[in-house]
Amino acid sequence: MKQYSVDESGYYGEFGGAYIPEILHKCVNDLEKAYLPIIESRQFQRDFSQLLHDYVGRPSPLYLSRQLSERFGAKIYLKREDLNHTGAHKINNTVGQILIAREMGKTRIIAETGAGQHGVATATVCALMQMPCTVYMGETDVKRQQVNVKKMEMLGAKVVPVTSGNMTLKDATNEAIRDWCSHPTDTHYIIGSVVGPHPYPDMVARLQSVISKEIKVQLTEKEGRDYPDYLIACVGGGSNAAGTIYEYLDNDKVNIVLAEAGGKGVDSGETAATIHLGSQGVLHGCRTLLMQTEDGQITEPYSISAGLDYPGIGPMHANLAVQNRAQVIDINDDEALKAAFELTRNEGIIPALESAHALAALEKIKFKPEDIVVLTLSGRGDKDLDTYFKYEGQY
Ligand SMILES: *Cc1c(COP(=O)(O)O)cnc(C)c1O
Repeated sequence: MKQYSVDESGYYGEFGGAYIPEILHKCVNDLEKAYLPIIESRQFQRDFSQLLHDYVGRPSPLYLSRQLSERFGAKIYLKREDLNHTGAHKINNTVGQILIAREMGKTRIIAETGAGQHGVATATVCALMQMPCTVYMGETDVKRQQVNVKKMEMLGAKVVPVTSGNMTLKDATNEAIRDWCSHPTDTHYIIGSVVGPHPYPDMVARLQSVISKEIKVQLTEKEGRDYPDYLIACVGGGSNAAGTIYEYLDNDKVNIVLAEAGGKGVDSGETAATIHLGSQGVLHGCRTLLMQTEDGQITEPYSISAGLDYPGIGPMHANLAVQNRAQVIDINDDEALKAAFELTRNEGIIPALESAHALAALEKIKFKPEDIVVLTLSGRGDKDLDTYFKYEGQY
Protein backbone atom coordinates (compact mmCIF):
# COMPACT_ATOMS: atom_id res chain seq x y z
CA MET A 1 0.00 0.00 0.00
CA LYS A 2 1.20 3.48 -0.80
CA GLN A 3 1.80 5.76 2.12
CA TYR A 4 0.04 9.11 1.90
CA SER A 5 0.34 10.36 5.46
CA VAL A 6 3.54 11.54 7.05
CA ASP A 7 6.20 8.95 7.98
CA GLU A 8 8.19 8.84 11.20
CA SER A 9 10.94 11.06 9.88
CA GLY A 10 8.54 13.74 8.70
CA TYR A 11 8.38 12.87 5.00
CA TYR A 12 5.62 12.26 2.48
CA GLY A 13 7.49 10.13 -0.04
CA GLU A 14 10.41 12.32 -1.12
CA PHE A 15 8.80 15.51 0.17
CA GLY A 16 8.74 17.21 3.56
CA GLY A 17 11.39 17.00 6.26
CA ALA A 18 12.71 19.84 8.39
CA TYR A 19 15.43 21.92 6.72
CA ILE A 20 16.05 24.55 9.35
CA PRO A 21 18.88 26.63 10.74
CA GLU A 22 20.69 25.18 13.76
CA ILE A 23 19.23 27.83 16.08
CA LEU A 24 15.67 26.58 15.41
CA HIS A 25 16.38 22.92 16.09
CA LYS A 26 15.26 23.13 19.69
CA CYS A 27 11.96 24.95 18.90
CA VAL A 28 11.06 22.59 16.10
CA ASN A 29 12.08 19.48 18.08
CA ASP A 30 10.10 20.64 21.13
CA LEU A 31 7.07 21.14 18.93
CA GLU A 32 7.56 17.79 17.24
CA LYS A 33 7.69 16.02 20.60
CA ALA A 34 4.69 17.91 21.96
CA TYR A 35 2.13 18.15 19.18
CA LEU A 36 0.80 14.60 18.99
CA PRO A 37 0.44 13.96 22.73
CA ILE A 38 -1.30 17.33 23.07
CA ILE A 39 -3.62 16.83 20.08
CA GLU A 40 -4.53 13.36 21.31
CA SER A 41 -5.10 14.44 24.92
CA ARG A 42 -8.61 14.47 26.36
CA GLN A 43 -8.32 18.07 27.44
CA PHE A 44 -7.21 19.36 24.04
CA GLN A 45 -9.94 17.38 22.29
CA ARG A 46 -12.53 18.86 24.63
CA ASP A 47 -11.30 22.48 24.40
CA PHE A 48 -10.79 22.31 20.64
CA SER A 49 -14.22 20.80 19.91
CA GLN A 50 -15.92 23.27 22.17
CA LEU A 51 -14.26 26.30 20.57
CA LEU A 52 -14.92 24.93 17.08
CA HIS A 53 -18.56 24.51 18.02
CA ASP A 54 -19.27 27.65 20.04
CA TYR A 55 -16.76 30.16 18.65
CA VAL A 56 -16.14 29.11 15.03
CA GLY A 57 -19.72 27.90 14.46
CA ARG A 58 -19.01 24.28 13.47
CA PRO A 59 -20.10 21.91 12.11
CA SER A 60 -20.21 23.83 8.84
CA PRO A 61 -23.19 22.79 6.71
CA LEU A 62 -22.94 20.32 3.83
CA TYR A 63 -25.24 21.92 1.29
CA LEU A 64 -26.67 20.12 -1.74
CA SER A 65 -26.55 22.62 -4.60
CA ARG A 66 -29.49 21.87 -6.86
CA GLN A 67 -28.27 24.25 -9.50
CA LEU A 68 -24.71 22.89 -9.74
CA SER A 69 -26.06 19.33 -9.63
CA GLU A 70 -28.38 19.95 -12.59
CA ARG A 71 -25.74 21.77 -14.57
CA PHE A 72 -22.94 19.22 -14.12
CA GLY A 73 -25.05 16.05 -13.99
CA ALA A 74 -24.05 14.69 -10.58
CA LYS A 75 -25.01 15.27 -6.95
CA ILE A 76 -22.89 18.22 -5.90
CA TYR A 77 -22.54 19.21 -2.27
CA LEU A 78 -20.76 22.32 -0.99
CA LYS A 79 -18.88 22.08 2.31
CA ARG A 80 -19.54 25.55 3.68
CA GLU A 81 -16.28 26.69 5.30
CA ASP A 82 -17.29 30.19 4.18
CA LEU A 83 -19.73 30.26 7.09
CA ASN A 84 -17.02 29.97 9.75
CA HIS A 85 -16.16 32.88 12.04
CA THR A 86 -13.76 35.19 10.12
CA GLY A 87 -15.04 33.78 6.84
CA ALA A 88 -12.82 30.83 5.94
CA HIS A 89 -11.27 27.54 7.06
CA LYS A 90 -8.11 29.25 8.40
CA ILE A 91 -9.62 29.72 11.86
CA ASN A 92 -9.75 25.91 12.44
CA ASN A 93 -5.96 25.86 12.37
CA THR A 94 -5.32 29.01 14.42
CA VAL A 95 -7.71 27.91 17.18
CA GLY A 96 -5.93 24.56 17.36
CA GLN A 97 -2.41 25.98 17.29
CA ILE A 98 -3.02 28.57 19.98
CA LEU A 99 -4.31 25.81 22.28
CA ILE A 100 -1.14 23.81 21.56
CA ALA A 101 1.02 26.91 22.19
CA ARG A 102 -0.71 27.55 25.50
CA GLU A 103 -0.24 23.95 26.57
CA MET A 104 3.47 24.22 25.72
CA GLY A 105 3.75 27.25 28.01
CA LYS A 106 4.32 29.79 25.20
CA THR A 107 3.28 33.36 25.93
CA ARG A 108 3.76 35.14 22.61
CA ILE A 109 2.52 34.40 19.08
CA ILE A 110 4.00 35.35 15.72
CA ALA A 111 2.68 34.70 12.22
CA GLU A 112 3.33 35.55 8.59
CA THR A 113 0.60 36.63 6.22
CA GLY A 114 0.25 37.29 2.50
CA ALA A 115 -3.18 38.69 1.77
CA GLY A 116 -3.85 39.06 5.47
CA GLN A 117 -6.39 36.27 5.92
CA HIS A 118 -4.12 34.10 8.07
CA GLY A 119 -2.96 37.23 9.93
CA VAL A 120 -6.57 38.09 10.79
CA ALA A 121 -7.33 34.49 11.86
CA THR A 122 -4.24 34.55 14.10
CA ALA A 123 -4.93 38.00 15.57
CA THR A 124 -8.48 36.81 16.29
CA VAL A 125 -7.44 33.84 18.42
CA CYS A 126 -4.75 35.93 20.15
CA ALA A 127 -7.45 38.40 21.20
CA LEU A 128 -9.54 35.45 22.38
CA MET A 129 -6.67 34.02 24.45
CA GLN A 130 -5.21 37.38 25.44
CA MET A 131 -1.78 36.65 23.98
CA PRO A 132 0.46 39.29 22.36
CA CYS A 133 0.68 38.83 18.60
CA THR A 134 3.10 40.06 15.95
CA VAL A 135 2.26 39.55 12.27
CA TYR A 136 4.87 39.92 9.52
CA MET A 137 3.52 41.14 6.21
CA GLY A 138 5.31 42.24 3.04
CA GLU A 139 5.03 45.99 2.50
CA THR A 140 3.52 45.45 -0.96
CA ASP A 141 0.77 43.39 0.69
CA VAL A 142 0.32 45.94 3.50
CA LYS A 143 -0.50 48.53 0.85
CA ARG A 144 -2.78 46.18 -1.13
CA GLN A 145 -4.69 44.81 1.87
CA GLN A 146 -5.50 47.82 4.05
CA VAL A 147 -8.74 46.39 5.46
CA ASN A 148 -7.01 43.28 6.81
CA VAL A 149 -4.17 45.38 8.26
CA LYS A 150 -6.72 47.57 10.07
CA LYS A 151 -8.61 44.49 11.31
CA MET A 152 -5.43 42.94 12.74
CA GLU A 153 -4.57 46.22 14.48
CA MET A 154 -8.09 46.55 15.85
CA LEU A 155 -7.75 43.00 17.22
CA GLY A 156 -4.63 44.14 19.06
CA ALA A 157 -1.91 42.65 16.87
CA LYS A 158 1.26 44.44 15.83
CA VAL A 159 1.66 44.36 12.05
CA VAL A 160 5.29 44.63 10.91
CA PRO A 161 5.75 45.63 7.24
CA VAL A 162 8.63 43.72 5.62
CA THR A 163 10.71 45.61 3.07
CA SER A 164 13.13 42.92 1.88
CA GLY A 165 12.86 41.08 -1.47
CA ASN A 166 9.61 41.56 -3.37
CA MET A 167 7.97 42.59 -0.08
CA THR A 168 5.37 39.79 -0.29
CA LEU A 169 4.57 36.51 1.49
CA LYS A 170 7.91 34.76 0.97
CA ASP A 171 9.75 37.72 2.51
CA ALA A 172 7.29 37.97 5.41
CA THR A 173 7.88 34.28 6.14
CA ASN A 174 11.65 34.78 6.23
CA GLU A 175 11.18 37.61 8.71
CA ALA A 176 8.88 35.52 10.93
CA ILE A 177 11.51 32.75 10.99
CA ARG A 178 14.14 35.32 11.97
CA ASP A 179 11.94 36.51 14.87
CA TRP A 180 11.44 32.91 16.04
CA CYS A 181 15.20 32.36 16.01
CA SER A 182 15.66 35.30 18.37
CA HIS A 183 12.78 34.36 20.72
CA PRO A 184 12.90 30.57 20.78
CA THR A 185 11.69 30.00 24.33
CA ASP A 186 8.57 32.12 24.81
CA THR A 187 7.26 32.33 21.23
CA HIS A 188 5.12 30.02 19.10
CA TYR A 189 5.06 30.58 15.34
CA ILE A 190 1.59 29.87 13.90
CA ILE A 191 2.07 28.82 10.27
CA GLY A 192 -1.10 29.22 8.20
CA SER A 193 -1.03 26.23 5.86
CA VAL A 194 0.31 22.69 5.47
CA VAL A 195 3.80 24.03 4.67
CA GLY A 196 7.02 24.67 6.59
CA PRO A 197 9.25 22.20 8.42
CA HIS A 198 7.89 18.97 9.93
CA PRO A 199 5.74 18.80 12.10
CA TYR A 200 3.83 21.81 10.70
CA PRO A 201 2.33 20.14 7.59
CA ASP A 202 1.08 17.19 9.64
CA MET A 203 -0.06 19.33 12.58
CA VAL A 204 -2.05 21.72 10.36
CA ALA A 205 -3.56 18.82 8.37
CA ARG A 206 -4.72 17.18 11.62
CA LEU A 207 -6.27 20.42 12.87
CA GLN A 208 -8.06 20.96 9.54
CA SER A 209 -9.16 17.32 9.35
CA VAL A 210 -12.31 18.30 11.23
CA ILE A 211 -13.60 19.16 7.73
CA SER A 212 -13.45 15.56 6.48
CA LYS A 213 -14.59 14.15 9.83
CA GLU A 214 -17.75 16.23 9.49
CA ILE A 215 -18.19 15.26 5.82
CA LYS A 216 -18.24 11.58 6.88
CA VAL A 217 -21.02 12.15 9.40
CA GLN A 218 -23.00 14.45 7.11
CA LEU A 219 -22.78 12.17 4.06
CA THR A 220 -23.87 9.19 6.17
CA GLU A 221 -26.96 11.16 7.19
CA LYS A 222 -27.77 12.38 3.70
CA GLU A 223 -26.61 9.53 1.46
CA GLY A 224 -26.32 6.50 3.72
CA ARG A 225 -22.60 6.09 3.03
CA ASP A 226 -19.70 8.03 4.45
CA TYR A 227 -17.63 8.72 1.33
CA PRO A 228 -18.17 10.64 -1.92
CA ASP A 229 -16.96 9.72 -5.42
CA TYR A 230 -15.14 13.04 -5.74
CA LEU A 231 -13.59 15.54 -3.35
CA ILE A 232 -12.65 18.88 -4.88
CA ALA A 233 -10.71 21.73 -3.24
CA CYS A 234 -8.46 24.61 -4.23
CA VAL A 235 -4.78 24.59 -3.22
CA GLY A 236 -2.59 27.50 -2.23
CA GLY A 237 -0.39 25.91 0.42
CA GLY A 238 -2.99 23.16 0.64
CA SER A 239 -4.64 23.33 4.08
CA ASN A 240 -8.33 23.40 3.16
CA ALA A 241 -7.66 20.58 0.70
CA ALA A 242 -5.72 18.61 3.33
CA GLY A 243 -8.62 18.96 5.77
CA THR A 244 -11.10 17.90 3.09
CA ILE A 245 -9.24 14.73 2.05
CA TYR A 246 -7.56 13.73 5.32
CA GLU A 247 -10.00 10.98 6.32
CA TYR A 248 -10.21 9.64 2.75
CA LEU A 249 -6.55 9.38 1.71
CA ASP A 250 -6.55 5.59 1.81
CA ASN A 251 -10.01 5.10 0.29
CA ASP A 252 -9.35 4.45 -3.40
CA LYS A 253 -13.01 4.85 -4.26
CA VAL A 254 -12.66 8.58 -3.60
CA ASN A 255 -11.21 10.65 -6.46
CA ILE A 256 -9.24 13.64 -5.21
CA VAL A 257 -9.19 16.75 -7.38
CA LEU A 258 -6.96 19.72 -6.50
CA ALA A 259 -7.47 23.06 -8.27
CA GLU A 260 -4.39 25.23 -8.49
CA ALA A 261 -4.16 28.79 -9.77
CA GLY A 262 -3.19 29.04 -13.42
CA GLY A 263 -3.21 32.85 -13.23
CA LYS A 264 -3.15 34.19 -16.78
CA GLY A 265 -2.24 30.72 -18.08
CA VAL A 266 0.28 28.06 -17.08
CA ASP A 267 2.68 29.13 -19.85
CA SER A 268 2.10 32.89 -19.53
CA GLY A 269 4.82 33.54 -16.97
CA GLU A 270 2.10 34.97 -14.72
CA THR A 271 0.90 31.93 -12.84
CA ALA A 272 0.88 30.10 -9.53
CA ALA A 273 0.50 26.58 -11.00
CA THR A 274 3.16 25.15 -8.69
CA ILE A 275 2.42 21.46 -9.15
CA HIS A 276 2.35 21.75 -12.97
CA LEU A 277 5.49 23.84 -13.24
CA GLY A 278 7.36 23.05 -10.07
CA SER A 279 10.58 21.16 -9.54
CA GLN A 280 12.03 19.82 -6.31
CA GLY A 281 13.67 22.23 -3.96
CA VAL A 282 13.65 23.45 -0.37
CA LEU A 283 11.59 26.43 0.74
CA HIS A 284 10.69 27.56 4.26
CA GLY A 285 12.05 24.42 5.84
CA CYS A 286 10.61 21.70 3.64
CA ARG A 287 11.45 19.80 0.47
CA THR A 288 8.63 20.19 -2.00
CA LEU A 289 7.71 21.28 -5.53
CA LEU A 290 8.62 24.91 -6.16
CA MET A 291 8.39 27.40 -8.97
CA GLN A 292 12.02 28.27 -9.48
CA THR A 293 14.57 29.18 -12.12
CA GLU A 294 17.24 26.70 -13.24
CA ASP A 295 19.67 28.07 -10.69
CA GLY A 296 17.15 27.77 -7.86
CA GLN A 297 15.84 31.35 -7.58
CA ILE A 298 12.20 31.33 -6.50
CA THR A 299 9.88 32.68 -9.21
CA GLU A 300 7.35 35.24 -7.98
CA PRO A 301 3.92 33.60 -8.33
CA TYR A 302 0.87 35.38 -9.71
CA SER A 303 -2.85 34.73 -9.30
CA ILE A 304 -5.91 37.00 -9.22
CA SER A 305 -6.55 35.32 -5.89
CA ALA A 306 -4.17 36.44 -3.18
CA GLY A 307 -4.58 33.24 -1.15
CA LEU A 308 -3.30 31.01 -3.95
CA ASP A 309 -0.12 32.78 -4.97
CA TYR A 310 2.40 30.79 -2.96
CA PRO A 311 5.47 29.61 -4.92
CA GLY A 312 5.43 26.19 -3.21
CA ILE A 313 2.86 23.58 -2.23
CA GLY A 314 2.53 21.46 0.88
CA PRO A 315 4.66 18.28 0.80
CA MET A 316 1.59 16.08 1.26
CA HIS A 317 0.09 17.40 -1.98
CA ALA A 318 3.39 17.20 -3.87
CA ASN A 319 3.46 13.51 -2.98
CA LEU A 320 -0.23 12.93 -3.83
CA ALA A 321 0.42 14.49 -7.23
CA VAL A 322 3.56 12.49 -8.12
CA GLN A 323 1.93 9.25 -6.88
CA ASN A 324 -1.14 10.04 -9.01
CA ARG A 325 -3.40 9.82 -5.96
CA ALA A 326 -4.69 13.30 -6.76
CA GLN A 327 -5.62 14.86 -10.07
CA VAL A 328 -4.38 18.44 -10.32
CA ILE A 329 -6.27 20.88 -12.53
CA ASP A 330 -5.08 24.42 -13.24
CA ILE A 331 -7.73 27.12 -13.35
CA ASN A 332 -7.09 30.52 -14.91
CA ASP A 333 -8.23 33.87 -13.50
CA ASP A 334 -11.07 34.25 -16.00
CA GLU A 335 -12.42 30.75 -15.34
CA ALA A 336 -12.45 31.43 -11.59
CA LEU A 337 -14.20 34.78 -12.04
CA LYS A 338 -16.87 33.21 -14.24
CA ALA A 339 -17.50 30.45 -11.68
CA ALA A 340 -17.72 33.02 -8.86
CA PHE A 341 -20.35 35.14 -10.64
CA GLU A 342 -22.35 32.03 -11.54
CA LEU A 343 -22.48 30.74 -7.97
CA THR A 344 -23.43 34.20 -6.74
CA ARG A 345 -26.35 34.58 -9.16
CA ASN A 346 -27.59 30.99 -9.04
CA GLU A 347 -27.16 30.10 -5.39
CA GLY A 348 -26.92 33.44 -3.58
CA ILE A 349 -23.45 32.62 -2.29
CA ILE A 350 -20.54 34.98 -3.02
CA PRO A 351 -17.46 32.72 -2.81
CA ALA A 352 -13.86 33.68 -2.12
CA LEU A 353 -11.80 33.88 -5.30
CA GLU A 354 -9.72 30.93 -4.05
CA SER A 355 -12.83 28.76 -3.68
CA ALA A 356 -13.99 29.86 -7.14
CA HIS A 357 -10.99 27.95 -8.55
CA ALA A 358 -12.43 24.74 -7.07
CA LEU A 359 -15.86 25.58 -8.55
CA ALA A 360 -14.35 26.13 -12.00
CA ALA A 361 -12.79 22.66 -11.86
CA LEU A 362 -16.33 21.19 -12.10
CA GLU A 363 -16.33 22.15 -15.80
CA LYS A 364 -13.29 19.98 -16.45
CA ILE A 365 -14.49 16.69 -14.97
CA LYS A 366 -16.80 14.19 -16.68
CA PHE A 367 -19.23 12.97 -14.01
CA LYS A 368 -21.63 10.03 -14.04
CA PRO A 369 -25.23 10.84 -12.98
CA GLU A 370 -24.93 8.76 -9.79
CA ASP A 371 -21.67 10.43 -8.67
CA ILE A 372 -21.61 12.15 -5.31
CA VAL A 373 -19.29 15.15 -5.25
CA VAL A 374 -18.18 17.22 -2.26
CA LEU A 375 -16.55 20.55 -3.08
CA THR A 376 -15.08 22.63 -0.27
CA LEU A 377 -16.06 26.27 -0.40
CA SER A 378 -13.02 27.43 1.56
CA GLY A 379 -14.16 31.00 2.20
CA ARG A 380 -16.55 33.83 1.48
CA GLY A 381 -16.05 36.60 -1.02
CA ASP A 382 -16.27 39.71 1.18
CA LYS A 383 -12.51 40.26 0.94
CA ASP A 384 -12.66 40.00 -2.87
CA LEU A 385 -15.47 42.46 -3.52
CA ASP A 386 -13.20 45.13 -5.03
CA THR A 387 -11.94 42.59 -7.57
CA TYR A 388 -15.47 41.40 -8.33
CA PHE A 389 -16.74 44.99 -8.77
CA LYS A 390 -14.01 45.56 -11.36
CA TYR A 391 -15.32 42.69 -13.50
CA GLU A 392 -19.07 43.19 -12.90
CA GLY A 393 -20.90 43.01 -16.22
CA GLN A 394 -18.17 41.03 -17.95
CA TYR A 395 -19.31 37.64 -16.71
C1 LIG B 1 -5.81 31.14 2.43
C2 LIG B 1 -6.96 30.64 1.67
C3 LIG B 1 -6.85 29.57 0.75
C4 LIG B 1 -5.54 28.91 0.42
O1 LIG B 1 -4.90 28.28 1.47
P1 LIG B 1 -4.85 26.70 1.63
O2 LIG B 1 -3.85 26.49 2.70
O3 LIG B 1 -4.42 26.13 0.31
O4 LIG B 1 -6.21 26.25 2.00
C5 LIG B 1 -7.99 29.11 0.12
N1 LIG B 1 -9.19 29.70 0.32
C6 LIG B 1 -9.34 30.73 1.18
C7 LIG B 1 -10.70 31.31 1.36
C8 LIG B 1 -8.24 31.24 1.87
O5 LIG B 1 -8.41 32.28 2.71
